[in-house]
Amino acid sequence: MKELKYCPNCGKETLSYVNNRKWSCSECGLSLYNNVAAAVGLVAIIKKNNRDHILLVKRGKMPRKGFLAVPGGFVDPGESAEEAAVRECHEEIGMTPKSITYLTSATNNYQYKDIDYVTCDIFFKATFEESDGDRLLSQLKAEDSNEIQGFELHPLEKSEDIDKIPLAFKSAVVALNSMFK
Ligand SMILES: [Zn+2]
Repeated sequence: MKELKYCPNCGKETLSYVNNRKWSCSECGLSLYNNVAAAVGLVAIIKKNNRDHILLVKRGKMPRKGFLAVPGGFVDPGESAEEAAVRECHEEIGMTPKSITYLTSATNNYQYKDIDYVTCDIFFKATFEESDGDRLLSQLKAEDSNEIQGFELHPLEKSEDIDKIPLAFKSAVVALNSMFK
């Protein structure tokens, strides 16, 4: 965790991080909470060669650059989890899901520029109009190609398959495991 020292309210060098959740100023009493952030992820099972595959994006940015994630991201202020899921899906793979249904939630740590954000990741099962894996892959396009390096389908027919996938975040491991319970 990056040490923030200067209070954004009184400007003195009297800020400390307490109880693993807030910055507190001993001079003016300011409390700045590092609250849990809400994020969403879409679990899309797609058929390829008649086998179930999971649709993943390759991360183009830190944290966990080069690792795989389910499409998703942070919930914006004023947005519902469902709205965030549809928006992130459109931004990251250029596609609007045909349906989304709640799957599970899991905690995650997201380290960005030396600050550890604790998130509550909310996962939805998603379907698309196009159900053929290869055809779907050929239609995908990220809004920002620096953020998303590419798209992959990995076999997912039993829980042991999850270990073979270089997933970026532990919450996705929990979400994929929940499919087999
Ligand atoms: Zn202060």
